[in-house]
Amino acid sequence: MAKDMDHMDMYWVMENKAHGYARIHRGRCPSCMDGGGPRPGHGGMWRGPFTDYEDALMKANAPGKHPDELNCSRCSPQREGE
Ligand SMILES: [Zn+2]
Repeated sequence: MAKDMDHMDMYWVMENKAHGYARIHRGRCPSCMDGGGPRPGHGGMWRGPFTDYEDALMKANAPGKHPDELNCSRCSPQREGE
């Protein structure tokens, strides 16, 4: 069981309502560090963790944002099986 957990990615959403900003990361992304990563600007906050990318995507659903804008370019959370 513990081994399965190691293979499971967690997803986090960096959200900054003041700037209408949201981005999805994997927990192991250097920008996220399981929600301990740097928070851009004032009012940024981590939401999560989510076990499913789809869940994170729903929570990150910022109005007017294309889904491509929500995915971190460092950890590519939309990709499966890495
Ligand atoms: Zn990331």
